[in-house]
Amino acid sequence: MRATDLDLKELLQVDPAGGILRFGHERVLLLDAVALGLLRRELIEMLGMTGARAMLTRFGYAHGWRTAENLRTAFPWDSEDEWRHAGGRLHTLQGLVRVGAPEDGQRSGTLPIGNSIWEDSYEAEQHLLHFGPADETVCWTLTGFASGYLSRAHGREIYCVEERCRGKGDAVCRLVGRPVEEWGETITPHLAFYHQKCLDAALSHVTDELKRVERRLDARRRELAAAETGPAAAGSSLHVESPAMMRILDLARRVAQVDSTVLLTGESGVGKERVARFIHDQSARTAGPFIAVNCGAVPESLLESELFGHTRGAFTGATQDRVGLFEAANGGTLLLDEIGEVPPSVQVKLLRVLQEREIRRVGENRSRPVNVRVLAATNRDLVAEIRGARFRQDLYYRLRVVEITVPPLRERREDILPLARAFLAAAATRTGRTVTGLTPAAAHQLLRYGWPGNVRELENAVERAVVLAQGSRVDVDDLPQDIGLATPSPAGVGDIRPLAEVERDYITSVVRAVGGNRAQAAAKLGIGTATLYRKLKEYGT
Ligand code: ZN
Repeated sequence: MRATDLDLKELLQVDPAGGILRFGHERVLLLDAVALGLLRRELIEMLGMTGARAMLTRFGYAHGWRTAENLRTAFPWDSEDEWRHAGGRLHTLQGLVRVGAPEDGQRSGTLPIGNSIWEDSYEAEQHLLHFGPADETVCWTLTGFASGYLSRAHGREIYCVEERCRGKGDAVCRLVGRPVEEWGETITPHLAFYHQKCLDAALSHVTDELKRVERRLDARRRELAAAETGPAAAGSSLHVESPAMMRILDLARRVAQVDSTVLLTGESGVGKERVARFIHDQSARTAGPFIAVNCGAVPESLLESELFGHTRGAFTGATQDRVGLFEAANGGTLLLDEIGEVPPSVQVKLLRVLQEREIRRVGENRSRPVNVRVLAATNRDLVAEIRGARFRQDLYYRLRVVEITVPPLRERREDILPLARAFLAAAATRTGRTVTGLTPAAAHQLLRYGWPGNVRELENAVERAVVLAQGSRVDVDDLPQDIGLATPSPAGVGDIRPLAEVERDYITSVVRAVGGNRAQAAAKLGIGTATLYRKLKEYGT
């Protein structure tokens, strides 16, 4: 049998009832050329010309190789040569392209192995349909097929190159195939399309583009969030929604731009250190260190050496030179927390450092310049401390060039839930627990509580609740008891509620706290069981 003996009517087996279609012995599909053209367009748009070309060339190659493999045993070929030519004949019969011999010669030993012209290439036609004339040849699948078929049929690496193409305006496509060693250097740029690397490069280009888009989206989201909640929302790590804290952060941001000292005041646990950190992050010193020291936690005898350092032998136990926190914070920010606890002997030295901008290590006679921005924080009323002669007035004025008073949590209830949710997410991640949020009852309870310990108390309570939570959300029972039982404390006239409502909330929370045991609840409330039943009935619980 010869390649030219292949006959469409004999090859194509059609089941009259429909279903599977066979060509030769292989199942084939009838696909509309435009559908394939659309797929091709998608690939080009997604991967770019190079990526799409690599993908289709590799697809064609695998198809060609398989076809040669199958045809070899499917028919009793007169010679190996007939089998080798059958690939082109098959493509013609299948309507992909009309393969013919070029005018300048028939099959001859002197001509390259895959020397043919292609007319009516479906691939060129589809490219022209979707993209118009190309700058380069476009019959990538067909070229890949020819390379794969010939490589298998000749048992050696053969690559085909389309030298002319209908897709770039030539009258016909012209294909030349040669063994790889005959091509020499000229084949190198074409080989890239047969290799995975080329596709990987195209895909990494797509990934990079996705990352760029993601970054643009992120930036846009931040812009939108800032526009929605005011400029202070950029300090979102502080989870601030209250107007009071927005104003604080606004002020902090402006203060960050100058190097003056700042005194942060406010109750214990309100988050003064977070605001200090925010000032540092927003300042030109952000690349430098941020160091916080709790002056109240360092014994008086060690505080001076802690802050300013010491030389070896300066005092008993000083076995080597030591750098103090002022030097360690050089170029950055030093937060002196609990400044109200600093003893008078150290206060005077601090004042000198702030005035001279240089420190002297304990046991040393020379001064060392330091470039540190000092922030101080206290929960004490320093004015009262001055009156009681426990704090130096000159140091106070030196520190409070700008004073920022962080309000207690009960005066900015809008921040409670955003903070609680942020602490919850952080605690869940840290402890590996799958706690995803708060039940409405728990959220309600967090809002009613007075938070004397402020943000720190909230953080501790939420963290504990995450550890103890029975379900996937934190419920009232998971909260510390004093919070779970809390009744609202009126912070302003607007918060005052009818007594009956407060009573109802309190009684139901007590019943819940004792696990629904009404006798026990009545005893704890100091009322009769019958009274409790009557009240619960009134509340409809
Ligand atoms: Zn072409």
